[in-house]
Amino acid sequence: MALIVQKYGGTSVGSVERIQAVAQRVLKATQAGNSLVVVVSAMGKTTDGLVKLANQISTSPSRREMDMLLSTGEQVSIALLSMALQELGQPAISLTGAQVGIVTEAEHTRARILNIQPARIERHLKDGKVVVVAGFQGISSTTDLEITTLGRGGSDTSAVALAAALQADACEIYTDVPGILTADPRIVPDAQLMTDITSDEMLELASLGAKVLHPRAVEIAKNYGVTLVVRSSWTDEPGTRVVSPIPQLRSLEGLEIAHPVDAVEFDTDQAKVALLRIPDRPGIAARLFGEIAVQDLDVDLIIQSIHEGNTNDIAFTVTQHSLNRAEAVAAAIAPALRGHAATPLDEAEVMVERQMAKVSIAGAGMIGRPGVAAQMFSTLAAAGVNIQMISTSEVKVSCAIAAEDCDRAIAALCQVFNIASSPVRLSAPQVAESHATPVRGAALDVNQAQLAIRHVPDRPGMAASIFQLLADHNVSVDMIIQSQRCRLINGIVTRDIAFTVAQMDAIAAQKALQEAAPELGCGEITVAWAIAKVSIVGIGMVGRPGIAARMFEAIAHQQINIQMIATSEIKISCVVAEADGVKALQSVHAAFGLAGRETIQISA
Ligand code: ADP
Ligand code: ASP
Ligand code: MG
Repeated sequence: MALIVQKYGGTSVGSVERIQAVAQRVLKATQAGNSLVVVVSAMGKTTDGLVKLANQISTSPSRREMDMLLSTGEQVSIALLSMALQELGQPAISLTGAQVGIVTEAEHTRARILNIQPARIERHLKDGKVVVVAGFQGISSTTDLEITTLGRGGSDTSAVALAAALQADACEIYTDVPGILTADPRIVPDAQLMTDITSDEMLELASLGAKVLHPRAVEIAKNYGVTLVVRSSWTDEPGTRVVSPIPQLRSLEGLEIAHPVDAVEFDTDQAKVALLRIPDRPGIAARLFGEIAVQDLDVDLIIQSIHEGNTNDIAFTVTQHSLNRAEAVAAAIAPALRGHAATPLDEAEVMVERQMAKVSIAGAGMIGRPGVAAQMFSTLAAAGVNIQMISTSEVKVSCAIAAEDCDRAIAALCQVFNIASSPVRLSAPQVAESHATPVRGAALDVNQAQLAIRHVPDRPGMAASIFQLLADHNVSVDMIIQSQRCRLINGIVTRDIAFTVAQMDAIAAQKALQEAAPELGCGEITVAWAIAKVSIVGIGMVGRPGIAARMFEAIAHQQINIQMIATSEIKISCVVAEADGVKALQSVHAAFGLAGRETIQISA
């Protein structure tokens, strides 16, 4: 007999008929001899409706009252599902987050789970009942009894956390599509189903806009080794398995907050090539990385900064052994890009740095916790290490630094993040698995805004101050890009820094930075709203040349200009104009052969 946690999303319980269909499915699983805990979302678009109601009364409703309001949606569906089960003769009981002891931080509207006290659930299960639990909600502490919610889409996280706490045999997420697809089928109609995906890939996809799973649910599954499946509640197809490596044993105390960083990694075999002042028009990145790919050179980090005037900077790292060839490619291309500049001083230029190292902190626990990256930057600053390039993903922050600073950087990071095990040296191309397809999926995020800070003094500690400030305002930063070009302002060397944040955080971020600008000594802070971020994800892209080139080429082919580029080991993200987002996603999806013949059914 197995213990299974099933989770049904809003559309799966969107009507009386749907709730009855879910009850039938649950009954079938119990009749097969399993014990069932069922987590449900609010019916259909109930939560959206409640948000609208609140906005009609207040433009900035109190976060506590929002939690009080939004948590009601799930309370309706748990009661109805329990009744439907009882009608079928299946004993069942509905319980709120508080009643099953889902204890969270006191952070309203985005609380993280601290622990779950499973005793009450276990008792009901022993009595032969199906336990129907309200997703998305918890309680701040057993003395305060404040209702909290986990953030939109958080029912997935409730389900996986319960599965971890109960040591369930499996957690099944039922939704309105057949599983995890290569892209959102509502935007890319020929997206196809994956039978499995690694938790690392899914973490990236989820945080880059694929809302089929809440990223924190994937994080918990990865950390606790929960067997996780996503499938349709309309069919009996097996869906998609999210595969996690066997984790180290960890305590359930501090479930979502205990270990932000799992490992410190480094790679001392890096060299940087930067192309400065290249024209800001479609096709430039495609051309540069196309040539690099022809030379079969594997590029690691790539960043393209915001443009100043009508030119961009692109910087990338390669192994030291490949540097001469990469430099030759860049030098050969640079003259062809000339002739656009107003003065010779504005012309394209190639810059190289031979002895570089990359240090990274990695861990699924840093998702949505902006203070972790800030702490890395301040640790490096305190050790006197200047950060030359920053590359971020939800689960990793990497900094390119001078090779001579590497040992100092590692020692400081291991100490601050309490990493007892020795740091991991990443030897050159580390191909994890030989996936036939280097790219597994693509995602679009149109809910981001881009902020740029002009003329940031170029000295250790600036990134730390800026991102600590944002962390203090609870703003999570996604892509971070420092321009390669320096500019002298009043005798001080400065660079621009650009980054993306969730649109709902953009105003707060801008305000905080504007207030601090005089003290930080930096210039104007600008916000661009109409952007879209298009990303590709796949473990198979590690150590495989030409992937970035193919993505940039697909975008250029549509005459779409790339405004920012940022990469991590297993993802490449490009910022384009919002109006171009869908077309860019579709063309990238097609370029990697992700399209299938079957049309995916969306059951809503
Ligand atoms: P639920 O209410 O069941 O939690 P969600 O709406 O939160 O459902 O998530 C399912 C939706 O996620 C799908 O209908 C689909 O439009 C969207 N989606 C985005 N990216 C993907 C993807 N890569 N694979 C599958 N679905 C995706
Ligand atoms: N009902 C909540 C929402 O719509 C939680 C969820 O469905 O996961 O965000
Ligand atoms: Mg959802």
